[in-house]
Amino acid sequence: MNPDGQWYPIIVSGVVGLLSGSFLNVVAYRLPCGESIVHPGSRCPSCGHRLSIYEIVPLLSFAVQGGHCRHCREKISVRYPLLELATALLFVWTSIHVVGDLKQFTWAIFWLILIAAVGTDWTSMRIPDVITYPGGLIVLLLAGATGVQSWSLALSGAVLCPLILLTVHLLSRGNMGLGDAKLYVAIGAILGPYMGVESLIVASAVGVLVGMPLRLTRRLRAGQRIPFAPMIAVGTLLVAQYGTGWTTAYVHLLGLQVAASFGKTVLTTHGACARVMPTNL
Ligand SMILES: [Zn+2]
Repeated sequence: MNPDGQWYPIIVSGVVGLLSGSFLNVVAYRLPCGESIVHPGSRCPSCGHRLSIYEIVPLLSFAVQGGHCRHCREKISVRYPLLELATALLFVWTSIHVVGDLKQFTWAIFWLILIAAVGTDWTSMRIPDVITYPGGLIVLLLAGATGVQSWSLALSGAVLCPLILLTVHLLSRGNMGLGDAKLYVAIGAILGPYMGVESLIVASAVGVLVGMPLRLTRRLRAGQRIPFAPMIAVGTLLVAQYGTGWTTAYVHLLGLQVAASFGKTVLTTHGACARVMPTNL
């Protein structure tokens, strides 16, 4: 077999991912301000200098310029190379782990929506409806139509996961953003309800792992919020890779536990009666 036949799609996915990530940086910066994402061309947010083609090459321009604007020497946010790298890696992951062009296309669209949400949450602490509403609907339709999930699993995931987050939003009195709940329409649709719930649990664990050290070292003030979408993205990828539906197993186990404890109660009560009764007689 020609080895190029194996590497070619992976390299192409990586390059397309880098370019898409570069565009998502523009989305993350401009969308929350209500600016156009196509016009004008990219500028330094600090001095307004119009960036040349060499200054917008993903990853490379950041590395070559040492993370500073060439004109005003202002620091460039690490968000730029990170979003580019994340999108590239997710595209590469898709080309390796997802079988079938249509399914790969569905996953690619999903990652674009997810990383756009991560970017806007990072820059503005909110995920605009213009990402989550159409994004959720598109991923739901694509996931069902291309067979990434059966229609019933895609639909139930798209309904159940946002409902759980909506409950958390209400219970936390708005501390958990509503944008996260809306974002979970797309995630629930592509992962299905079981893995969707798993990704929520993993995202929460990642949130604690990241948030606790920041709080302890006082880099995060009391009451200061951190964007949750990046944790959601990590949880989603981990579950997409390693999730085996252990929530299903857990639910079954929980069911057995309840049945077992019920049986134990019956037996113990019965035993107690058996012990007590002879003395009473
Ligand atoms: Zn500048």
